[in-house]
Amino acid sequence: MYIKDGSELGYNCRKEEAHNYSWGWLGNKVESSGWDNEDSKNEVIARLSNLKYEDLIGHTRGFHVCEICNECMGSATLKISHNGKIFSAPSNVVHYIEAHDYKPADIVVEAIKNGLYVTDNDWSIDWDRDAEYDEDKIDAKWASKIEEVLLKGMRGTIS
Ligand SMILES: [Zn+2]
Repeated sequence: MYIKDGSELGYNCRKEEAHNYSWGWLGNKVESSGWDNEDSKNEVIARLSNLKYEDLIGHTRGFHVCEICNECMGSATLKISHNGKIFSAPSNVVHYIEAHDYKPADIVVEAIKNGLYVTDNDWSIDWDRDAEYDEDKIDAKWASKIEEVLLKGMRGTIS
């Protein structure tokens, strides 16, 4: 699974979304590597290694593997809200950093350290099962949900 770092197109997204910043969907090669700050790298690895189940969203029964070495890359998505962006990566993205020296962009490193880890609870809209299917209404619900998550990430507080 390859998505260019920084892409507004996300995994499972139908279209590009202005708030989205994909990272860590490397495919079979590492385009950005080399950390000049070992402490920063270790801090990022520690943070990403200690993710709880709740820190991930969209748990599925399937999973994808690292196309470089076949390690399991997890079956969920990590979303971090920070400074007006939602940074989306595969749940086991830490593998690329540890095993293949992947270095995400500085704004991603910043988000990993200080951002809001979006939970399934944050990332769900209320479904009115009796209502007729109305794509515009659903889009509007998602737009306000995303707005909410972006705002939480601005405050940097977890509620
Ligand atoms: Zn690998």
